[in-house]
Amino acid sequence: MSTAQKPTMEFKSSLDIAKIREDFPVLKREVNGHPLVYLDNAATTQKPQAVIDALDNYYSQYNSNVHRGIHRLSQEATDAYEAAREKVRLFLGARDIKEVIFTRGVTEGINLVAFSFGEKFVSEGDEILITEMEHHSNIVPWQLMCERKGATLQVVPINERGELRMDKLEEMLTERTKLLSVVHVSNALGSVNPIGEIVEMAHAKGAKVLVDGAQAAPHLPIDVQALDCDFYAISSHKVFGPTGIGALYGKRELLEEMPPYQGGGDMIELVSFERTTWNELPYKFEAGTPNIADGIAFGAALDYFRKLDSKALVDYENELLTYATESISDLPGIRFIGTAENKASVLGFVVDGIHAHDLGAILDMEGVAVRVGHHCAQPVMRHFEIPGSVRASFAFYNSREDVDRFSAALHKAVEIHKGDDVAKDRDIFDTSAETIQETQQRIVDKFSSYDNWEERYQAIIDLGQQLPPVPEEVKQEKFIVRGCQSTVYLKAEMEGDRVMFKAGSNAMIVNGLIAILLQVYSNRTTDEVVNTPPEFIQKLGLSENLTQGRANGLAAMIEQIKLYAYALKMTRQSGR
Ligand code: PMP
Repeated sequence: MSTAQKPTMEFKSSLDIAKIREDFPVLKREVNGHPLVYLDNAATTQKPQAVIDALDNYYSQYNSNVHRGIHRLSQEATDAYEAAREKVRLFLGARDIKEVIFTRGVTEGINLVAFSFGEKFVSEGDEILITEMEHHSNIVPWQLMCERKGATLQVVPINERGELRMDKLEEMLTERTKLLSVVHVSNALGSVNPIGEIVEMAHAKGAKVLVDGAQAAPHLPIDVQALDCDFYAISSHKVFGPTGIGALYGKRELLEEMPPYQGGGDMIELVSFERTTWNELPYKFEAGTPNIADGIAFGAALDYFRKLDSKALVDYENELLTYATESISDLPGIRFIGTAENKASVLGFVVDGIHAHDLGAILDMEGVAVRVGHHCAQPVMRHFEIPGSVRASFAFYNSREDVDRFSAALHKAVEIHKGDDVAKDRDIFDTSAETIQETQQRIVDKFSSYDNWEERYQAIIDLGQQLPPVPEEVKQEKFIVRGCQSTVYLKAEMEGDRVMFKAGSNAMIVNGLIAILLQVYSNRTTDEVVNTPPEFIQKLGLSENLTQGRANGLAAMIEQIKLYAYALKMTRQSGR
């Protein structure tokens, strides 16, 4: 049995993590009977009480609209909102407050530049450069812009460690390159790009540079003037602030030249039906009532963050990453995705033969929150030829114990999926000696003998391991069952008077559910399939622990099974 061995590594950090954790109320909660271990910080970070209080205070004390009110509350709101902008300016190291535009987040910041910069500066035959490690939000806006303007999108590749190919970047930057948009820290790989050097290379060719700072903001000190980048986008929710707000830094002279992104209130100076003039920066780019409360709370998050020792945070997070990497590197079949020399607190990996969703589900059972899937970076997954990975991402409030719990849960997950001791001596799918009701009852009896979800889960995984692989001819688009979280193929055909189902998925837990369904519904007459309701499923004790996504998938599979049987019955009756 592979149990987790704790590495002996000494932490040098003097940060008082227990005290810091006190500031984050959510870290006190339990999930599935275990204290929460939150390792999904790259998706969004948790919020300190100071941020929650700032939101509460705004709504309970001075909620009102900004910039146009003469009354007291409006002035207070305006002052607090503009003070938040100043905090963002400080955080980014921008020269001028006019260079700080509030957005909904990085996605909107990039869309703003893609639209507005594109309108002004990009024309047919120009090139936009991005990289293979970009988040979808730094790919799709450029595709849309290139389509609109007749420009071409070029993609700088990464190497096997997940580092940017600087040699290729040098080659691909040409006089035609209008703009390079590049991530500072990759959310899927953790790779840290040498932005200063990249900006210098791009500027030498006359290209402007946008930096996607979504993942850098919580982990690295940022200084847009030192980096000399032209645009820098961040999201508040990745830096311990609320969702729905972020900021775009842009060099003033560029922003002055760019046309507005959206029209509406606040972004105008004078409006007549003949002609409208724009407000000054940054309001030219902020149409409509802004996200006032979240903007103010974003400022509170930056205040909180700034009080911590940023150098100590970076060092501590690096220690956590090293410790976590060591803790799980003994797992059989583990492959790390993203092993860049310069890396920030993201630990991505796959385990041979076990679907990322299966690992994520067991970690969740143990109260450990990680992200599984493609992390909105499908090209990265394609590069490593994997459908998705597991990603544990750390923040300074994560403790050494969090990593131990994560490692123990992961070792357990791998153990559950090993399948060495699964009884494969009996063909569980040969149910010809049972009626459909007897099969249902047998499965219900079996599941009633389990004491808890862990035993039921193990039983489902064992069943999944007995499911024969899906034949190649079934792995076709037309046999995919819609509405399932994982890819599920299902095909039905008649053999004599019996409907035979062939099915399978890329997640073992789903294969287990399929194995249950096939025992009941495969090798039956069409009437038996159509007329036997799936009520037995309710008696298996799965509903509490199966995620909503999985439960929906199960319902979709049952529906498809019934539809197939009904269609085959109709075909038979019409003699076709
Ligand atoms: N870029 C990167 C690298 C990210 O990690 C994310 C968020 N996962 C985004 C862009 C998009 O940020 P948002 O959803 O806050 O707009």
